[in-house]
Formats: sequence, structure tokens, C-alpha cells
Amino acid sequence: MGMMKAIRKKVAGPGLELCEVEIPQIRGDQVLVKIEVAAICGTDLHIYNWDQWSANRIKPPVTAGHEFAGRIVKLGKDVTHLQEGMLVTAEGHFVCGQCYYCRTGQGHICDDVKILGVDVDGIFAKYAAIDAGNIWLLPEDSDPALGAIHDPLGNAVHAANVHCLTGQDVVITGCGPIGLYCIALAKQAGARRVFASDINGYRLGLAKQLGADFVVDAKETDIADLVKEVTGIGADILLEMSGSRQAFASGLGALRKGAGVSLLGIFSDVVNMDLDAVIFNQLTLYGINGRRMFDTWYEMEAALESGLNVKPVITHRFSFEEYEKAMELMNSGQCGKVLLIP
Ligand code: NAD
Ligand code: ZN
Repeated sequence: MGMMKAIRKKVAGPGLELCEVEIPQIRGDQVLVKIEVAAICGTDLHIYNWDQWSANRIKPPVTAGHEFAGRIVKLGKDVTHLQEGMLVTAEGHFVCGQCYYCRTGQGHICDDVKILGVDVDGIFAKYAAIDAGNIWLLPEDSDPALGAIHDPLGNAVHAANVHCLTGQDVVITGCGPIGLYCIALAKQAGARRVFASDINGYRLGLAKQLGADFVVDAKETDIADLVKEVTGIGADILLEMSGSRQAFASGLGALRKGAGVSLLGIFSDVVNMDLDAVIFNQLTLYGINGRRMFDTWYEMEAALESGLNVKPVITHRFSFEEYEKAMELMNSGQCGKVLLIP
């Protein structure tokens, strides 16, 4: 069917390669999407850097990437609810539909999930084959760059919406792209005050831009001290978006009794915590894995439609040819969301 460019992990080890591969064949229940905008996720960076997780999980060769917006150019023979030309993105978790979780409305924690750009060829390519059931339609007049960040924005929506943030004092530890989306979501929900921490000055600047009322450089100030000083009693909600043990400890220290916590950041080591603090302070901890399918997607679309502005999170764009520059920029942390344009 012809050839295309794709950014692939060809062999086990660091790096990625821009190579020529065949345009994918689609199954009857898939669509072929022409990628307009791809976005780089922390997962892609792990795959590029080849950390322990990647070495255990990735079976090369595989095309990387799962955050995208593009247009449908071909329909599988069984696909009746979509049309060629539609502007789309997709949920990148392909679930089995058969396990206990899938059958009880919890497909996001499916026992047999396959992840786009991890277990199957992804979207750092001119074209990608996507399961039709995973396609999410984008408004025809919308910015594809926003479409391309639906997956991580959905993570933030999932983490934020297990709480009611209206009128609450909200602490957000970690101002990577997902923490930054959380700031915008908390402000939109009418949070009373949003406290955000990071250890990276560039990202603290973005946090201010997204509307955080207080930004804290965790290298200099313990967010618990500031929150206690401002609120007297402590914050109502903690959204842990850093995966840093230290940030989590400070975030817990910032809370009042009876507070709620979302844990989304992934810790590289086992975290020991004092459960007495949870018990006697009567905290509620929510583990957040991906996006609810598709409850979170509807909530996200509604938030965007009613004016959620997350565009300032997108700070850089590169062509596919410049993917190494883009990955190294991500490694430096001097960026928000980084896009790749085929
Ligand atoms: P990111 O790495 O860009 O952001 C993490 C931020 O935390 C960085 O800006 C970093 O400087 C900051 N940080 C580090 N130490 C800190 C400290 N002591 N105090 C405050 N901030 C600190 O990642 P992201 O893409 O925004 O994702 C956020 C987290 O969520 C990551 O840990 C990622 O692995 C995880 N994640 C989880 C899921 C899930 O389903 N649970 C999905 C996607 C990403
Ligand atoms: Zn399943």
C-alpha cells in the first residue's frame, strides 16, 4: 500500500529511529488515520531513554507515540459509525471487553490492556491503524494541537473529578503537563485557592500562567508550611502529579483532616508511608490509572467546550526529523507539552 515515515524503536536499547515502513493494513474493525499532530508523553521519553520499565515492557520493533490528532482516511469493512475525513483522536488503551473489569464499566483497568505505541505500533508515523471503538471525535473546527493532548488531559480530568473542587483549597504537587492541566481544571471548577509546587523554574512560570494562586519552588519552600500559613487549617484536596516521594510527603503535610488525595504520579521506588496519618486524619486516597472509558472523555469534552484553556501548556513544536532535539528538550525539563508534526 506504499511506504511512510515512522519513529520507531528498532532494537532494544536507547534511542529511536526515523525510518521508512509500510503504511499499516487495517483490520475490519479499525480505521486508518493520517496523523496531523503528535504529542510526546513521558512514556515516549522513557522508551527513548530505555529505562528499566521500557526494557521490561517494549518488544521491538515498534512505532512509538500514542497522543495524536488526525483525520480518518480509510474505514475497515465493519466500521459503520465513522466517516472518512473526520478529525479524531483516540483512547490509546485497547481493552479486551471480556474480563471482569471491562464487563463492569472499568475498562481502564482491564486485565489484558494493549497500549498504543507500547504494545502495538503507535502514532509517531504518517499513518496509524486505530481500533474504531477507541476513536474519539473532535469538533470539526477545533485545534488539532488540543486534540493531540486529550490523552494526558484526560488523566488530569480523571484525577481532578473524583473530587468536587468547587470552593476548595487544592494542592497540586508537580507542574509537568498533567499537573498544569490540573491547575486549569481546578480554576475552572471554582477552587478557592490553588497551590502548585515544582522544582523547575520554567514549569513554575507555566503554573502561574495557568492560574495557580500560589506557586512554590519545592527546593526552597515546603508547600505544607505555606498552605498551613495561608489556610490556617490545611488544604482540602491534594493532586499528586510528580511521582516524587518528597513532594507526596509535603503534599500530605499540607492537608486538613478529612481531605481527599488523588495519586497519579508514578513513583520510581516503593513509597513507605505512615498509615496512621491516613487513619487518624481520616484521609481518602484515590489511585488514578489512565482515563475512565469513556466517562472521562465526555467530562473532558465538556470542560473544553465550556472554556477550559490549556493551550499555554503547549510550548514547543518540532518536525518528525527533529525528534531527537524534541526528546532532549523533554529530558532538560525546559518545556511544557512538546508536539511533533509529521
Ligand atoms: P512530568 O515528569 O513532566 O512532571 C513531573 C513534574 O514533577 C516535573 O515538572 C518535575 O520537575 C516535578 N517534580 C519533581 N520532583 C518534585 C518535587 N519534589 N516537588 C514538586 N515537583 C516535583 O510528568 P507528566 O507527564 O506531567 O506526568 C505526571 C506524573 O504522572 C508522572 O509521574 C507520570 O509518570 C505519571 N503518569 C501517570 C499516569 C497514570 O495513569 N497514573 C498516566 C500518565 C502519567
Ligand atoms: Zn478487559
